[in-house]
Amino acid sequence: MIIDSHIHTHYSHGDSEVYRMVENAIKKGVDGIGFAEHFHYDFFSEMGLPTVGGREVEGTVFENFKMYYKTVEKAKEDYKGKIKITLGVEVDYLEAKKEDIKEALDVKPFINDYKEKNPDRKFEFDFIMGSAHFIGDPLKYFSDYKERGEDWLISEYFSLIKDSIKSDLFDVVGHPELIKYFIDKKFVNYSSHIEEIVGLLAKHKVAVDLNTDYLRNSKTGEIEEARLNPGLEMLFLCKEKNIPLIIGSDAHSSENIAKNFSETFKILKKLGINKFFYFKNRKLNEYSII
Ligand SMILES: [Zn+2]
Ligand SMILES: [Zn+2]
Repeated sequence: MIIDSHIHTHYSHGDSEVYRMVENAIKKGVDGIGFAEHFHYDFFSEMGLPTVGGREVEGTVFENFKMYYKTVEKAKEDYKGKIKITLGVEVDYLEAKKEDIKEALDVKPFINDYKEKNPDRKFEFDFIMGSAHFIGDPLKYFSDYKERGEDWLISEYFSLIKDSIKSDLFDVVGHPELIKYFIDKKFVNYSSHIEEIVGLLAKHKVAVDLNTDYLRNSKTGEIEEARLNPGLEMLFLCKEKNIPLIIGSDAHSSENIAKNFSETFKILKKLGINKFFYFKNRKLNEYSII
């Protein structure tokens, strides 16, 4: 079975709408897809929106996020029996905003929608993924804090990841080694962080997003095992501690659904990993790759 549990849409900065994603997934022979759209960032209010290269990033504007939610709900009905669809969200975590995040996920989003049959209902996600894309104060993308040095980047990033796991808000931690693409891994050893993170995942019962997006080096065009996220060291520890792996392409366009999956499966085979999980109603479901 092939399930890609990390897909974005045009409601944030992806280029394809929900139904096109589903149609392409079916065409590619994928058995299931999980939408994990970026949440809105309004809870960053006093801090200001995060920036990339000096330009603000909005996440998904709340009105669009509601539309995303309803469209995926509808797609679930329309494609019943044809493909498994799950409805998730990728939330940026900030320790200082823990309560705001909790509240933002607990609103009644459709209370003023006159067409809504049950205006009192709240979001009911299949999974909630916690990620870190921005660090520091002001909040900026990693590459915009290069001048602070690699030690600072690593410690800021991994503290945020650890706090997100400890928050107990999330079912899965998104691409937990994202920082490695912004540092020179040859000269930096962050094993102690990895060990601590895996310990926390086990303790807080949080799964891992095995993200295949960066597996191919864009400069050389080559597949590099070390670019898997999480990397081999963390995957090995996850296997030892039975941490559930949720594989996802992080596709922002329909042609990237299940991107680099076959290459990833080959790498995992060597580690003796052949089972994965997906979330449905925030509960884990196991399946095997073949
Ligand atoms: Zn992400
Ligand atoms: Zn993502």
